[in-house]
Amino acid sequence: MSDLQLQGLRKTYGTNVAVENLSLDVRDGEMVAFLGPSGCGKTTTLRMVAGFVSPTAGTIRVGGADITDLPPNRRDMGMVFQSYALFPHMTVRGNVAFGLKARHVNAAEVPSRIADALKLVGLSGYEERYPRELSGGQQQRVALARVLALRPKLLLFDEPLSNLDAKLRVQMRHEIRSLQKEVGITSLFVTHDQEEAMTIADRIVVMNVGRIEQAGTPDEIYDAPQTRFVADFIGTANLIPGQVADGRFRSTRGFELPLPDGAQASANEIVLSLRPEKIDMVAPETPESVVATITRVTKLGSTVEYAVTLASGDTLVVQKQNRSDRNNHEVGGQVGLLWSRADARLLP
Ligand code: ATP
Repeated sequence: MSDLQLQGLRKTYGTNVAVENLSLDVRDGEMVAFLGPSGCGKTTTLRMVAGFVSPTAGTIRVGGADITDLPPNRRDMGMVFQSYALFPHMTVRGNVAFGLKARHVNAAEVPSRIADALKLVGLSGYEERYPRELSGGQQQRVALARVLALRPKLLLFDEPLSNLDAKLRVQMRHEIRSLQKEVGITSLFVTHDQEEAMTIADRIVVMNVGRIEQAGTPDEIYDAPQTRFVADFIGTANLIPGQVADGRFRSTRGFELPLPDGAQASANEIVLSLRPEKIDMVAPETPESVVATITRVTKLGSTVEYAVTLASGDTLVVQKQNRSDRNNHEVGGQVGLLWSRADARLLP
């Protein structure tokens, strides 16, 4: 088994706390993405798991064994970096073979290990090419093959797609996802790209200033954010500050709503979070709809984004699919807004 357990991990640099009391259990075969803004500690966490950075406190276990103090080369992990770090003077075969030789894999086994790994990444037949004869995506696949050939217990990805152009990134996300499921190796994936995390991961760990803000499936993180940081960081969210009183939400500007389902009544300052695509635009006279005026229309290609202002002065963003037969609203027009109560969430 190669489940991974992080317990109370902490890393400080002088007075700067990079990672604080981070605990996480990663199941055998699971793909977990670490997501968060620059400087939140995701790379430091990955490097502690890899053994390049030693924790100030806490333990790291793989399959139950404490590896906190093991050097990187004894951890049985494979790491894929943003820079492919291929040897330019070696062929694809030479690059993949290099790590196997360094780890003293039985020479008789090397050819089949190379063939299997290149097959997995779809590069059979490219053995004799040099890195300069490959596209960026192919080079990254070689880097992946090099790591897969080692058959590590854990795969660690450090922003591996950042150097690729936008279209290729999207394609490689799907490739990495299906490859990881095929080989079943427990994996960590660091990224600051939320779509990448949502596509690739079984579970996303959202980090903020060195701590885990929320860990959950992509659906949980998106549909049920537990803090305003998560709601704001993942996708777009309308965040309306306000208070709860007499069983109703009242925005700071005075816009009132019945409480969302299951919401805890509390007099504390909170925000109401509502995703732009969960709001329907209907005729302004529609019963129970909230009347709003359209103040901005932005065409974003496949979607149209509307900024709308309520009578209270609160502004919301509404997103609709760009269809010629619908949503032909213009600036200054009045609409009614409707949403399902379950989609409005009160957050601390
Ligand atoms: P990015 O997306 O920009 O790579 P990150 O989430 O991976 O960010 P880390 O690289 O883990 O963030 O850094 C976390 C914090 O620790 C930052 O404040 C960073 O400045 C600090 N830090 C990281 N490495 C060192 C170091 N070697 N010495 C001092 N401070 C460091």
